[in-house]
Amino acid sequence: MPPTFDTNRPSPCRRTQVRRHTAEVATWRNWAGNQHANPRSIELPRDAEEVSLLVKRAAGDNRRVKAVGSGHSFTAAAVTDGTLLRLDRMSGLVSAALASGLVTVQAGTPLHQLNPMLAELGLAMSNLGDIDRQTVSGATSTGTHGTGSRLGGLATQIRGLELVVGDGSIVSCSPEERPDLFECARVGLGALGVITAITLQCEPAFLLEADERPMPLERVMAELDELAETNEHFEFYWFPHTDIALTKRNNRLAPGEEARPLKRWREWLDDELLSNTVFNATCAVGKLRPSLVPRLNNTAAKALGARRFSAPSYEVFTSPRRVRFVEMEYAVPRAAIHDAVRAVQHVIERDNLQISFPIEVRVTAPDDIPLSTASGRDSAYVAIHRYRGEMFEGYFRAVEEEMKALDGRPHWGKMHWRTDEDLRPVYPRFDEFLAVRDQVDPERVFGNDYLDRVLGR
Ligand SMILES: Cc1cc2nc3c(=O)[nH]c(=O)nc-3n(C[C@H](O)[C@H](O)[C@H](O)COP(=O)(O)OP(=O)(O)OC[C@H]3O[C@@H](n4cnc5c(N)ncnc54)[C@H](O)[C@@H]3O)c2cc1C
Repeated sequence: MPPTFDTNRPSPCRRTQVRRHTAEVATWRNWAGNQHANPRSIELPRDAEEVSLLVKRAAGDNRRVKAVGSGHSFTAAAVTDGTLLRLDRMSGLVSAALASGLVTVQAGTPLHQLNPMLAELGLAMSNLGDIDRQTVSGATSTGTHGTGSRLGGLATQIRGLELVVGDGSIVSCSPEERPDLFECARVGLGALGVITAITLQCEPAFLLEADERPMPLERVMAELDELAETNEHFEFYWFPHTDIALTKRNNRLAPGEEARPLKRWREWLDDELLSNTVFNATCAVGKLRPSLVPRLNNTAAKALGARRFSAPSYEVFTSPRRVRFVEMEYAVPRAAIHDAVRAVQHVIERDNLQISFPIEVRVTAPDDIPLSTASGRDSAYVAIHRYRGEMFEGYFRAVEEEMKALDGRPHWGKMHWRTDEDLRPVYPRFDEFLAVRDQVDPERVFGNDYLDRVLGR
């Protein structure tokens, strides 16, 4: 679901004339409904020139500017009281070099359009997260990732960026052109400018086989290294108050092998009815009667069946998520994964919490992006959730304390309470990012309260 705009939809800006909208124009809300903004104006530029004009105008009026994607961040990363830019009209293919797999798209392209578009070209992203609702620039800006011990997050596939920086100029960057800016802007938190186009390294389209089955948690933990190393994409979901985990292994089919997709009724049963409708009802019951949560989770875990199917990669990586929740996710060094899972278990038991949402555990390879959560280290990710409307802060903060002790790094798009002071020690290249920010946005045109907190002013 896209973020919502409560009142009048703003008119698009014109090339020669930028329409102004007053403060009461609209309230912007994120997908989870836990963040909102009342920007002075909302603009829908059509190209980089219009973005440039809007940035110059805002800077001239002493206003701040924020580009927003699909509003799927739980943090206030996209919140602004200044000019909010929606890139809905900057979506689609710019160019594709089929031989090299280099594809340039406009920054507002949502992943659910990008994936089929690449498939038509015979190409695919190497890895994806759980859903496809984000825009390509929104997803990469916060370090969105999937799972795979030999693969990085989505931003590791970026080979070039076009962005509008703080003085309104349109700049390009790549490993050869302004490499300092390129390194940082791949996971730029919206702090380095408004991305207008992204060049991605894609690969030939491939089929993935999904193998999903429940396993005892203890066995998963004992075999975790092997499971992560012998599968291209391995993850698991532990059901709190049970000793069961749902494991997911996704591996490529060999060229020439036929896809064996799920029957439509089975797909509907699993992905819509059980994962969304029934799960939503279970969470709603658990919210009203928390004491029932352990029993509900045990019933759900026992009902888990195994399934195996294959399909185009992006259909296997992503699935619909209609149950609304808030989430926190921490990246820890791979070697600390056992401690991280135990720490979540410990907090739930110690604080006598009733948690209906499964705990998701994933892995990624190290990368060379200064503010990527996997920067310079093999990483494991532990994600915790609470159903919408449930109290989450006590649980999340308690887990955050445990993750801090493990040198954890919070996902930039998911709830956390860290500040620049305590993030600097876990990001060896933190000051490199700040130096680039000083170059491209000395006046903090792209600042907001969230960036003030995590990067400093
Ligand atoms: C249901 C759900 C499932 C999710 N699954 C995963 C997952 O599997 N893996 C994972 O890692 N994360 C996941 N996330 C988190 C999500 O991928 C990130 O929060 C992502 O940043 C959201 O993208 P968006 O397009 O909605 O961007 P927004 O949330 O709208 O914006 C995110 C940031 O990007 C900036 N931004 C957006 N567009 C631009 C631009 N053109 N130029 C510069 N900055 C820009 C914004 O200013 C903001 O700082 C999930 C979130 C939800 C709600």
